[in-house]
Amino acid sequence: MVKQALSRTCICGQTMSFPEGQIKAKCLTENCGANWELGAEGFWAITHIDAAQQMDEAVKEFIESMKVAFKRVFTAIMTAAEDINPKWLHYYSHSKKQRIRNKYEKMIRIYLTNSLQPLQRGKVGKFLE
Ligand SMILES: [Zn+2]
Repeated sequence: MVKQALSRTCICGQTMSFPEGQIKAKCLTENCGANWELGAEGFWAITHIDAAQQMDEAVKEFIESMKVAFKRVFTAIMTAAEDINPKWLHYYSHSKKQRIRNKYEKMIRIYLTNSLQPLQRGKVGKFLE
């Protein structure tokens, strides 16, 4: 048997140490689930990853992508909110008459909606940098 490289790094970042005289090994890290096999060329390689762990990875990836997407939307809203006329905000929250509060609420809503138009169309606007 060819002497393999002493250490390989697993997908989880763990340095693998392989048992002598065996051709199969499992990563010991929790939630990793990588299965290593000694190939004919004398190198250890990952043959497959246990399905449950693959699901975990897929879910993690999905959550990460959602985080990015929501962060974009949130940033866009907050950036647009910074440009709202402070007078509108004041009238919106402090006017005596409900009619005036409604008026400024509507103005703020229209302003924000218009500010988010580039985002809505999927175009790269000033909010997506
Ligand atoms: Zn691993």
